[in-house]
Amino acid sequence: MHTIDMDLVEMTLDVMKYTIDRISNVTPELGSPKKEEDLLRMVGETITPEGIGGENAFKLFRDVLVKATVPIDHPRHLAFVPAAPTRAAIMFDLVTSASSIHGAYWMEGAGGIFCENQAMKWLVSLTKLPKGAFGVFTSGGTAANLSALVTAREAWRDEKPEFARERALLLTSNGAHSSIKSMAKVMDADVILIDSEDEYLSGADLKKTIDGLSIQDRNRLFAVVATGGTTNAGIIDDLKTIASICEDEKLWFHVDCAYGGGALAADSVRHLFEGIEKADSITIDPHKWLFSPYDCGAVIYKNLELAKKAHSQKGAYLEIFKDEGAQGFNPADYQIQLTRRLRGLPLWFSLAMHGTNKYKRAIERGIELAQIAAEKIKANDKLELVRPASLSVVLFKRKEWSAEDYRDWTYKNHREGFALVTPSLWKDESVIRFCFINPDTTEEDIDKILKTLE
Ligand SMILES: *Cc1c(COP(=O)(O)O)cnc(C)c1O
Repeated sequence: MHTIDMDLVEMTLDVMKYTIDRISNVTPELGSPKKEEDLLRMVGETITPEGIGGENAFKLFRDVLVKATVPIDHPRHLAFVPAAPTRAAIMFDLVTSASSIHGAYWMEGAGGIFCENQAMKWLVSLTKLPKGAFGVFTSGGTAANLSALVTAREAWRDEKPEFARERALLLTSNGAHSSIKSMAKVMDADVILIDSEDEYLSGADLKKTIDGLSIQDRNRLFAVVATGGTTNAGIIDDLKTIASICEDEKLWFHVDCAYGGGALAADSVRHLFEGIEKADSITIDPHKWLFSPYDCGAVIYKNLELAKKAHSQKGAYLEIFKDEGAQGFNPADYQIQLTRRLRGLPLWFSLAMHGTNKYKRAIERGIELAQIAAEKIKANDKLELVRPASLSVVLFKRKEWSAEDYRDWTYKNHREGFALVTPSLWKDESVIRFCFINPDTTEEDIDKILKTLE
């Protein structure tokens, strides 16, 4: 299987050609899904005792299967949180795979972990957390949030052993990402969603909620999760006042910036994140607004030792990694995963190649595109901007449209391979949501999409 044969050479050439073509193509075909039985009819069974051959399998992928996917970097993909990995990062993703490095322990991964840590150092500097703060790359925001919250819960139990048998409780807002509720379920913790106006959590709302808790609930409260850029509307909670309540109440302060984290690098909006430097932990997804390929999240801690206490795995065959001779930074100690890909490497290479200023400019462009789109929407009498653009998100309505109209419009654009823009809700009403990430999206792309709403 590992000897070099002609089939392998052919396959390698096919893969390299495809990769180069794909990353040079700035408007890849916007595919749409097909039913599984249709795909099976088109390609047949692909796993057989003898194998179907690399060239053949690759052809099926290239000519059929990839066409049933949506390229998230399409300039008119403005749904959910799109992505736009840099070419440098994509190429280095191939290098990361080819290098076969185990990313859990310094003993095996030192050189690669060094690179990840260089990129992490820049991320940490954006947060302005105090000296000693540091983090690790995870599979995404969900894993980062879970890693941070488990650390918080363990620290709370260590500090308050008298409540160790209590079910843990955390507070967040109705604008928080679904992964917070979902990861609380994994931890078997309870969540109270603070129903704040306009999905914006303030210190006053937080204080009112804490003061309204029963003594039992107050005793099992261990953390507050604020959002640094809600996924739906790009809203940044009042981190400064929330931080000060958390400090007074001795609660873990986690800031989920999975989507918004890239904007920490944008001078035009950095002030909105004031207070983040007081966080105990922060989530940032480089695979969202820092142009990394999937999957790459990051969790950053003010006190790294607490993460180690919560996550360091023990086992007879792992003890060697804790040995003097293997000393160094062990990413496995600070998040939920053991064996891991060096998923921060593509980000490192791209940052090293381009420099951080280029990143700043690309992020500012996303913010600018949202402002431009908002202006165009305001000037169009068929459309109504429901709130000012926030970070790179724009929410607006097509006057007189029902939820069905929005849905049909979304499907039509997708079916035609023109754009992927999806509806959302704002104050229980249907809206259209634009989320800009790709700096190569043009004003003309925005105009073309708005034209389909006439
Ligand atoms: C996307 C997102 C998450 C989840 O991150 P994944 O990388 O999808 O796991 C969590 N929080 C926020 C605010 C997000 O935008």
